[in-house]
Amino acid sequence: MISEIFMRFPGGRDRALTLSYDDGVEQDIKLIEILNKYGIKATFNINSGLYTPKGTVFPEGRIHRRMTHEASVELYKNSPHEVAVHSFSHPFLDKIPPASVIDEIIKDRKNLEADYERPIRGMAYPIGAFNDAIVESLRQCGIAYSRTVISTKSFDIPTDWLRLPATCHHNDPDLMKLADNFVNYNVWGPPQMFYLWGHSYEFEEKNNWNVIEEFCEFMGGRDNVWYATNIEIYDYIQAYYRLEWSVDMDTVYNPTAYTIFIKYCTAQHPPKYISVKPGETLRITE
Ligand SMILES: [Zn+2]
Repeated sequence: MISEIFMRFPGGRDRALTLSYDDGVEQDIKLIEILNKYGIKATFNINSGLYTPKGTVFPEGRIHRRMTHEASVELYKNSPHEVAVHSFSHPFLDKIPPASVIDEIIKDRKNLEADYERPIRGMAYPIGAFNDAIVESLRQCGIAYSRTVISTKSFDIPTDWLRLPATCHHNDPDLMKLADNFVNYNVWGPPQMFYLWGHSYEFEEKNNWNVIEEFCEFMGGRDNVWYATNIEIYDYIQAYYRLEWSVDMDTVYNPTAYTIFIKYCTAQHPPKYISVKPGETLRITE
């Protein structure tokens, strides 16, 4: 008889890494080169009302340089990464009227959906500002998750996706210690997630591109890590929770479009691993 079941990520992996970078700045080009080199995936949060006009010459020393509309679409569309909402014009959402909050989110969603030709359901709060009313507005705007600027320094799978915390910012002095703990942790029960956030212009500002290069080199290329965008992880986890189990947990039905991986334990045997295909009803026999 099955006593315990735990989600596993695609391929049976027991941990996932994802990154979240904001504002659509020129330095995302270099960041994407680094991510692609190590097979790591990220989500880029874009303000579609703040593209730099074509032909703009930035003053000497300007570090926060948003891309033009054309350069932005060209960069992200030809990449394996996710594009998500960061509001139309980057206000403090808790300082503007509720209808304007909705306008900021819907306008950004619609613009990004027109450019990227897919539903856009992710978000990061501009300046990290949110409250309960804003969360409710997001829900009504069809936003599935929204990242805050809160760091937990943990690898727990999030439960409140519209108040999504990160593991840490890339400037965290414990970054590599956390990375080391993450890859070496022996995952027995629930899977783990490392969620890193920041702005790529900060690497230019602090002249420390080596921080992200070293992090990606260390984290990349590992068989037990799922490298995914925010929405890929969100969608997979939602699919896992849609599995239908018999009461004694020996039969499982997968009503989703995802192949779902599961670790299960019985009192008598060592843990076993199974996968359930889309539409499949699987009988687990010992
Ligand atoms: Zn921002």
